[in-house]
Amino acid sequence: MNLYRGNLILVNEQHAVREEAPQLTKMDGAWLERRAAVLLAELLKQVGARGEIALVSGWRSHKEQQQIWDNSMREHGEAFTRAFVAAAGHSEHQTGLAIDVGLRQEEIDFLRPAFPYEGVAQTFREAAPRFGFTQRYPEGKEAVTGIAHEPWHFRYVGAPHALIMQEYDWTLEEYVAFLHECPLRKRPLHFQKYGLDVLVSYCPAAREEELQKEAHQGPCAVSGNNVDGYIVTEWV
Ligand SMILES: [Zn+2]
Repeated sequence: MNLYRGNLILVNEQHAVREEAPQLTKMDGAWLERRAAVLLAELLKQVGARGEIALVSGWRSHKEQQQIWDNSMREHGEAFTRAFVAAAGHSEHQTGLAIDVGLRQEEIDFLRPAFPYEGVAQTFREAAPRFGFTQRYPEGKEAVTGIAHEPWHFRYVGAPHALIMQEYDWTLEEYVAFLHECPLRKRPLHFQKYGLDVLVSYCPAAREEELQKEAHQGPCAVSGNNVDGYIVTEWV
């Protein structure tokens, strides 16, 4: 069990990346965690947009993130940088679970690629949760995420979670916080929609041994939340 690993780790200004990204794979010039890459390829295929949507930035090393921050500070100043660039050690891109996408055009803005709420970009956006991707920094949630509205940044969390977050209009911060009220085997979040029937619950790190005693018979997945415990997903 590793608190700092899994597709539901919360990485933001308060919670740093603690683990090196595991098992990266290269796709259209971007590096991504293996499972995220497989699902992203399926999503692009579903949307029929592999030629029209560019993968602008996937996994970044700590050093790259620091360089992006430094360059942005030099070129755009502090206000812009703090709004759009995470400090090194605090970027989701360092997990391999985040991808910036942009419409393929001659000049692509690396920090703010064009990804409008119409056409093929919007088709991608609407299909994304079914493939486990959530638009991570939506408009109106800036105070929660600490990052400005980013139409182009998607984060892989896994299909049931992306659909649950969409249903309740939750960012990952809000989802992880809500699950604190859903203790394992006592009061799981029971989600039945879109053909899903899943139980999602929380196990504090201090009670990790309870995960071993898991009574559930069906398929089950455990992810660290990168904060204080584990998120358990059970398919009913
Ligand atoms: Zn991004």
